[in-house]
Amino acid sequence: MKDFRAFDVFKEEGEWYRGNLHSHTINSDGDATPEELVSWYQRNGYDFLAITDHDVITDVDKLDGKGMLLIPGLEFGYDPEEEPTYTLDMLGINIRELPAFLDPDRTGHVKNDPKISPQQIIDHLNVIGGMAIMCHPYFMINMTEPYLKYQGYVGMEAYNYVCEEQCGRGHHEIYWDTMLMRGKRIMGFATDDSHKPEFGHAWIEVKAKEKTVPAILEAIREGRFYATAGIQIFDLEYTDDKVRITFDRPCDVVFMPGCREGWIVRSYQNEYTLVDGRRRFSAEATVNKDLPYLRIELIDANGLKAYTNPVYFK
Ligand SMILES: [Zn+2]
Repeated sequence: MKDFRAFDVFKEEGEWYRGNLHSHTINSDGDATPEELVSWYQRNGYDFLAITDHDVITDVDKLDGKGMLLIPGLEFGYDPEEEPTYTLDMLGINIRELPAFLDPDRTGHVKNDPKISPQQIIDHLNVIGGMAIMCHPYFMINMTEPYLKYQGYVGMEAYNYVCEEQCGRGHHEIYWDTMLMRGKRIMGFATDDSHKPEFGHAWIEVKAKEKTVPAILEAIREGRFYATAGIQIFDLEYTDDKVRITFDRPCDVVFMPGCREGWIVRSYQNEYTLVDGRRRFSAEATVNKDLPYLRIELIDANGLKAYTNPVYFK
């Protein structure tokens, strides 16, 4: 089976929509009120925002996004009764109400019962039209087993701004690659994980047919997005056995295939063309389609990255 959606998205019809899927307010450990949080993202040109307070759902229907879509959600923190122990932090996106198994006493807060499996939560999210995204595995210094074991989550954070800013553990690409190499077709996200009022450092750009929550969520589920800490990607061309990526600033480009050794191409040289008087940079590599997948990372002069989702050859 070939699955080129992550690349084809640059050719398909639709518009690009910018959004952050991980944010906190004073309803958990954030510094901003829900109104302040929404206002900042709205004023700074975002198209959608998920509010994901810890273990409680912030009511987005009471807020005015002034055209920016608001998606209800939360961040589950789970300590399952399993050995070796781990803490699994997971975003629940597009969930309006806690199910009884998570909130038996109807307090509005998740009751952290170690007997509940994270799999139950993921399954519930998928049934109600939501989705689960694994948060910052390196920040938790978890082993990879839980991420291998659980099924049905759409992806994990490849980059989490706050984890990087606060303790240098914001890059989770190694977990993502480890899952991909073991056949888990998950996608990579970049998020602010906004707590303090310093937002706008990591987001996803989603290609969707229209600016509605269902269309945005469908596009995310299908991998029609890329994740970035600032770099804009204009195009991905895939012809014969070559892939060419075009972007907005000089970057190192790492073509990362699903293999243990060889054929990892890191290109330090960009070509550029002028479009409307501005430079557009590009880099190219020959693709070995015998490998299971390829994803691409861009790294700019400040060390900020952008990530395409993988394209699968097998
Ligand atoms: Zn968080």
